Amino acid sequence: MPRILLVEDEPGIVLTLTDRLSRDGYTVLSATDGDRGLELASKDRFDLIVLDVGLPGKNGFDVCRELRERGVMTPVIMLTARGQVVDKVVGLKLGADDYVTKPFEMAELIARIEARLRRAKPAGGVTRDAYEFGDVRVDFRRAEVSREGAPMELSAREFKLLCYFIEHREAVLSREELLNDVWGYESTPSTRTVDVHVAWLRQKIEPNPKHPRYILTIHGLGYKFVG
Ligand code: CA
Repeated sequence: MPRILLVEDEPGIVLTLTDRLSRDGYTVLSATDGDRGLELASKDRFDLIVLDVGLPGKNGFDVCRELRERGVMTPVIMLTARGQVVDKVVGLKLGADDYVTKPFEMAELIARIEARLRRAKPAGGVTRDAYEFGDVRVDFRRAEVSREGAPMELSAREFKLLCYFIEHREAVLSREELLNDVWGYESTPSTRTVDVHVAWLRQKIEPNPKHPRYILTIHGLGYKFVG
């Protein structure tokens, strides 16, 4: 059952949403302030976080940013107040995957949650806590990558990109798709960003970055991870 963390301080929304999602078969935990939300999201494993921006304690932006800094890559749907366009941009830049404007129709939020969970579902069925290829080991739960047993430093973005490749291994992924799903917003300067990050990732995980064995360039189409 997918696990959802709801970080929201309005009792009405918490109650309605918890009730509805539980009936749909989700396991729902909730926190009514930012600090508690951050704590739960960091130490427990969720498939999705619904995060209100206006919260007591840490606000939703801070929670989202700190989660990403800690390497927690759980998809986040932010709830923002109506008309706060700036909020949307800020939220997406801080690592949120989607946003829903308040007041929202329950059906709309549920649809967005389902869509996000579908996208997050690993295509290749990677459900274990770790994945290994060559001498590289990726620990999803701890957000750690090691090579020949030695820990490697990956940026949050590189880690997310690598996880995405693993989840979609053997599939040809276009730069646009990677940009959309790994970066999560469309205002990135160019798809060149993807190439740069792929190059950095290759430097770290490929035995010979000049002749990649795992992250292959598919000319004219994008990239493919085989491993
Ligand atoms: Ca609120």
